[in-house]
Amino acid sequence: QAKAAGRNALRFFDPTMQAAVIDRAQLEADLRHVIERQELTLFYQTQVNAHGDVVGVEALVRWEHPSRGVVSPGVFIPLAEESHLIGPVGGWVMETACKQLAQWARDPSTEPLSIAVNVSPNQFRQVGFVEQVETVLARTGANPQRLKLEVTESLLMEDLAAVCERMEQLRELGVRFSLDDFGTGYSSLAYLKRLPLDQLKIDQSFVRDVLEDPADAAIVRTVIALAHSLELEVIAEGVETGAHRDWLYAEGCMAYQGYWFSRPGPVETLSL
Ligand code: C2E
Ligand code: MG
Ligand code: MG
Ligand code: MG
Repeated sequence: QAKAAGRNALRFFDPTMQAAVIDRAQLEADLRHVIERQELTLFYQTQVNAHGDVVGVEALVRWEHPSRGVVSPGVFIPLAEESHLIGPVGGWVMETACKQLAQWARDPSTEPLSIAVNVSPNQFRQVGFVEQVETVLARTGANPQRLKLEVTESLLMEDLAAVCERMEQLRELGVRFSLDDFGTGYSSLAYLKRLPLDQLKIDQSFVRDVLEDPADAAIVRTVIALAHSLELEVIAEGVETGAHRDWLYAEGCMAYQGYWFSRPGPVETLSL
């Protein structure tokens, strides 16, 4: 018994585990300076319609860490959420995307493009979020109709009434909403009729094996049918092959995003 306890105690001081804790703490400390040190950049990935025209982009943040290289948002966004840094990080993304919209608005060929901005649950719930978006729109002169906020089902887990109200306020500004990673969360279908949504975004995990896996195919078909019957737009993410795109098209999904069309990149690399 004592021996086992001793082993566990030793395991507690496992150097790799300790390293992981320090690493996280260090990363979080670094994250605190990310705005002032100008280490964030915004990548964009095109969204394409059935004709192959680019109709918009999704903004995807990157952290260019001075010693670690590029840190994925899959790593640092959850960290920012937990450490109350999502406000400044999300604010920077919103500001940068809206500036881009205002710039595109000056050219008739790019004016119709929309930008989808991911909004974390803790960012959306922050006091003053609606006012923040309103201020950024006013300051940058971006057309609110071109701004699409991507929210996830996890946002809907608590206090649906409050979330709805906030979404309505943003919608009154002209902002639109997409439900990101649809199907991966726990949201009830009843939410869909209450929320002021414009678009469902089919998660890439269903798209990936849609040609081989009948269950994924059934799920994707169902989401497309659901979107159509609720009169919502539907877009598929993670479209990696022409076969994916053709399958989705045949099933009635007319908007696509994925490596088949383009990888996320800096604005200069976009072919619009
Ligand atoms: P997401 O919003 O679902 O974004 C789609 C992710 O799939 C992006 O990963 C994108 O690069 C990747 N992707 C695009 N096309 C393909 C494809 O064909 N195949 C595969 N396998 N992947 C593809 P990324 O950029 O690493 O972002 C990961 C997640 O981090 C995003 O998932 C989003 O939840 C979050 N995120 C990114 N930028 C922001 C941001 O500015 N704010 C917030 N709150 N979250 C963000
Ligand atoms: Mg997204
Ligand atoms: Mg997504
Ligand atoms: Mg996703």
